[in-house]
Amino acid sequence: MPKKTVEDIEIKGKRVLLRVDFNVPLNINTGAISDDSRIRASLPTIKYLIDHKAKVILCSHLGRPEGRVVENLRIAPIAQRLSQLMGLPVSTASDCIGQEVENEVDKLKEGDILVLENLRFHPEEEANDADFARKLVNLADIYVNDAFGTAHRAHASTVGVAKYLPAVAGFLMKKELNVMEKLLHDPERPSACLIGGAKVSDKIELVQNMLKKVDMLLVGGGMAATFLKAQGYEVGHSLVEDDKLNLAKKLLQEAKEWGVPFLLPIDAVVAGEIKAGVPTRVTPTTNIPSGSHIVDIGPKSIALFYNELRKCRTIIWNGPMGIYEMPQFAQGTRSIARFLSTLDATTIIGGGSSAEVVQEMGLADKMTHVSTGGGASLRFLEGVTLPGVKVLLDKK
Ligand code: ADP
Ligand code: MG
Repeated sequence: MPKKTVEDIEIKGKRVLLRVDFNVPLNINTGAISDDSRIRASLPTIKYLIDHKAKVILCSHLGRPEGRVVENLRIAPIAQRLSQLMGLPVSTASDCIGQEVENEVDKLKEGDILVLENLRFHPEEEANDADFARKLVNLADIYVNDAFGTAHRAHASTVGVAKYLPAVAGFLMKKELNVMEKLLHDPERPSACLIGGAKVSDKIELVQNMLKKVDMLLVGGGMAATFLKAQGYEVGHSLVEDDKLNLAKKLLQEAKEWGVPFLLPIDAVVAGEIKAGVPTRVTPTTNIPSGSHIVDIGPKSIALFYNELRKCRTIIWNGPMGIYEMPQFAQGTRSIARFLSTLDATTIIGGGSSAEVVQEMGLADKMTHVSTGGGASLRFLEGVTLPGVKVLLDKK
């Protein structure tokens, strides 16, 4: 069921509590914002609210302060960057709840922007505490959620407040939901799901749900080793979850029953240890030397994946093909990213690491959609109704 958005509600003169995801990566040494794409992603909704004369009260979490005030996780630098991006003054509240903040809100005029202090300075935020939610509610007349990246968490600012205020989606939330809904229910076909990442256990539900939704599954990354081993191959010292071997077998069997091709790497880059500068070699996955680790997919697998993906009209990619943090093992992941960017198909990037690679390579504009929420998009694709989405008003 589609959700109501800011466009479906009267906001002129109203105090609008806008939950955004300003949880941007910060440089550990300098504290500087290393990537402001999450702030940029929230601009369309903020601009709309201002253009329609709302009083805009922004709230977000930043980092993991675990319920106490952490000086270098204050929201002020984010508010400053927002002000630069908007070309407008943005004020910062003394906290996110309480009398003083209520006074600050009282002073707002139509079109003003106030950013509340880091929500997670209060443990009640993550606990979805009802009193804390009500204190947030005191600040506003309407609640808008644009924090897709946090929608899989039932916190006070994502779920609690929606009980007491008319709750609608912002434009980023709407876009993320539209893309993922279409992917799950009405993709242009053929469609493919390319999965990588470290562990099978993180992606079981994803594989299970997607094999009923797409025309082919391709699996690389660390989790491929468990599937290879489940088929009886030697995988050396590669990352394997032995307690998931039976499940891997079952998933391969299910794919067969659904008639969905399930492609695994046919060759791999292997190394004696996972360390920069170690010698590597490429071997067929039927012949992985017993003392070695799979660190990336090999050139033949890359070619195989290209060939299959080329046939598709819709592709969802979640998870790197190798240990991409080390440049020597990043070839598979980077080649796939570059290849997807050249396709004329619908290309959707979910998953934190895969999105990071695409951003870092400057390819985001060449994809149809790069999700701003790794965990949230993963949950969504598993078929889970996100708690932060569920509480928004349905469009009649
Ligand atoms: P995403 O965030 O895109 O969903 P994951 O969090 O599931 O991806 O996995 C990312 C991690 O997977 C990376 O840290 C990467 O090093 C690791 N990884 C990928 N391939 C391998 C491999 N062959 N062996 C061990 N780890 C791997
Ligand atoms: Mg991840």
